[in-house]
Amino acid sequence: MTMNIPGKKVDLETIGEDIFRLIEEMYPICRSITGDGVRKTLAILQRHIPMVVHEIPTGTQVFDWVVPKEWNIRDAYIKNPQKKKIVDFHRSNLHVLNYSVPVKKVLPLAELKHHLFSIPEYPDQIPYRTSYYKESWGFCLSHNDLQTLEDGDYEILIDSSLNEGHLTYAEHYIEGKREDEVLVSCHICHPSLANDNLAGIALSTLLAKHINQTQPEYSYRFLFIPGTIGAITWLALNPDVIRLIKHGLVISGGGDGGAFTYKKSRKGDAEIDRSMTHVLEHYGKKFNIEEFSPYGYDERQYCSPGFNLPVGRLSRTPYGEYPEYHTSADNLDFVKVDNLAETFSVLSSLHHTLENNRTYQNTNPRCEPQLGRRGLYDVIGGHSDSKEAHLAILWVLNLSDGDNSILNIAQRSGISFQNIKEAADSLERVDLLEIVGEG
Ligand code: ZN
Repeated sequence: MTMNIPGKKVDLETIGEDIFRLIEEMYPICRSITGDGVRKTLAILQRHIPMVVHEIPTGTQVFDWVVPKEWNIRDAYIKNPQKKKIVDFHRSNLHVLNYSVPVKKVLPLAELKHHLFSIPEYPDQIPYRTSYYKESWGFCLSHNDLQTLEDGDYEILIDSSLNEGHLTYAEHYIEGKREDEVLVSCHICHPSLANDNLAGIALSTLLAKHINQTQPEYSYRFLFIPGTIGAITWLALNPDVIRLIKHGLVISGGGDGGAFTYKKSRKGDAEIDRSMTHVLEHYGKKFNIEEFSPYGYDERQYCSPGFNLPVGRLSRTPYGEYPEYHTSADNLDFVKVDNLAETFSVLSSLHHTLENNRTYQNTNPRCEPQLGRRGLYDVIGGHSDSKEAHLAILWVLNLSDGDNSILNIAQRSGISFQNIKEAADSLERVDLLEIVGEG
């Protein structure tokens, strides 16, 4: 399986494996919205792409929010009345309620139970729970394990710290020919969860790496930020960049085997919405297009009314709609190389579409120009699907009135963007088209 990224052949299977290996490397780290887990993760990514890492102090006001205290953790366990460790942070970092305050004590089971979380519907799985904005502590364990606990005194330890510190996030910027930017955003705040979080991080990183090998038209800004507070912080601190954003995408959960799901921006018909819909229509796999709603990942912040940025979201199965979501079953077995490769392929088709969208004017708009005289039938004859190539030329000539972009023509004709682009390129070469606008 190979694909074309502008001017470059890429082996998709190799990319899928690279993405998977990166997920594997980040998987054991205990991340949160702040702390050393985020820094360690960013250090791994920096081996692939250069980044500017930002450290925003605790207490910084960001719109209606305040940057929280920094959380770090070294150890946590529960010992049963026989002094046996029955819950151990070093076996799974999901065992600790993320952002737990430090605690060390002995307490009876009845009291401990107020601080234990399990999922009765999925009794084998450890749930992922957080308490970022309310100081609390707790443990997560499988419902099966919870039910085996006998009465008696339990020794518990959470060796964590919640102190003044920083919120850490990173940016990777690729300078294009234009100042206008494409924003790609993923969250970096989940601990050992492979699809929700790590797949998005790894896909973004490899996409950045590939765009770096091209000379893009747009400038690209990749954000690696903690969910919600990270997006709010970035938006609050970057008023000058925001006006440059022409298209944006939140990437999350691209490693499961479900149908692609694209959630439109609040605008609903932004170029990113139309481009992604078109890419998925021609990709040949099942997909769903969702209308915008003010619930979900960081598109909520980018699409808040004060910004209303054209930012959509690409996932496979939407969050919360697969049983592995936010549990220990979202592990390295759940994400597959082939799924990651497919998602990467969709992302690079989107990139190709955004990069190559243009608007042209037909220079010979009164009746059809004579194509044979200009050698255009030769071009068509060499094409594997010459009837569609001929149709593509007719569509481009007819709709290039200065108002319709190549994407519009592709959408209206039902022909793929790539074929419409090739038709426009050959017409431009014989001066039957002149460019009148980008996008
Ligand atoms: Zn999540």
